[in-house]
Amino acid sequence: MVHAPPPPPPGLPPVRVNLYSDTQTKPTPAMKAAMVAAELGDEQAGTDPTVTALCERMAALLGKEAAVFLPSGTMCNQVAILTHCRPGDEILAHETAHILTSEGGGAAALTGAQITGLSGPQGQFSLEALQAAIRPKSRYAPPQTLVEVEQTANLGGGAVWPLATLNAIAAFAHECGMATHMDGARLTNATVAAGIAPAEMVAGFDSVWLDFTKGLGAPLGAVLCGSSEFIGRAWRWKQRLGGSMRQGGICAAACLYALDHHVDRLAEDHANARVLARGLAQIEGITVEVPQTNLVFFDTTGTGLTAEALAARVRREGVAFSAMGKYRGRACTHLDVTLGQIEDAVSVIRHAVTTQR
Ligand SMILES: *Cc1c(COP(=O)(O)O)cnc(C)c1O
Repeated sequence: MVHAPPPPPPGLPPVRVNLYSDTQTKPTPAMKAAMVAAELGDEQAGTDPTVTALCERMAALLGKEAAVFLPSGTMCNQVAILTHCRPGDEILAHETAHILTSEGGGAAALTGAQITGLSGPQGQFSLEALQAAIRPKSRYAPPQTLVEVEQTANLGGGAVWPLATLNAIAAFAHECGMATHMDGARLTNATVAAGIAPAEMVAGFDSVWLDFTKGLGAPLGAVLCGSSEFIGRAWRWKQRLGGSMRQGGICAAACLYALDHHVDRLAEDHANARVLARGLAQIEGITVEVPQTNLVFFDTTGTGLTAEALAARVRREGVAFSAMGKYRGRACTHLDVTLGQIEDAVSVIRHAVTTQR
């Protein structure tokens, strides 16, 4: 699985349509102006007014008591796991979850917790799958202390967990004495697509975070929310891991700007993703997973090209997408991709497929 773009081989043209990831957005001039104008203090001491404003705003938006600003989504997940779990604990999550596949074994390395992967379509597991994974409590079994879901499910094709499933899973987890954590890297994509208020969507979750670098266009930053007691304990892990910052407000200002200007427009990215999916589906040999949000996954088996080979061919024409499996490509729409660029990318991909036959 490729997560970081390989360094461009010499002689490649610059990328003109960047569907590689929704993390590739650059701060807009207006966002940069907001960053320059931010009032700053010492984040570590709790006296950066812009970070404080962002945390208060996020806690209110997600209906939680408190929030903490962290440099990345990965650190939100790891701090949350460290705060919820103890060594030897078991976390239940989907088998494709970011915490299981893409965080360097962080739960094992840092907390000493094991993650058991549950299966199910679109990066989601059912209440029944969760129930089936519950072990009888005994001194043989690992203490099962945390259930984690990813909204939207990245490797599940950007699928949105239905609210009823989220609520059923959270209620059951709590009945079993487990805590609930939501990896909300793309939470606002889910709330915009489903038309559900963020606080309502995450009501069943003890901890939840939003990434400001996924489609929201900020250069860095994520905010983890939960009860005051939880966030108080999370702060110690933030400190221990070196996640406490100084004039962090310069980045929090970008996140505040994104909340004001880049959330509602996610609907545009979702519409562009549907146009992209329809265009790709018309190319012989490509089958497309119908997108629910801004991620478009497609299968290249019928073209005779691996996803990586096709990506390399179109990259020579200035179009970038990522290979997430041997024949599974992913194209992301975001702030810096226009409808015109989508049409451009589809024709470049079509040309790359048809000329290699
Ligand atoms: C990107 C991502 C993360 C990690 O976020 P970073 O800000 O890149 O550390 C976690 N979970 C999911 C689902 C993601 O897509």
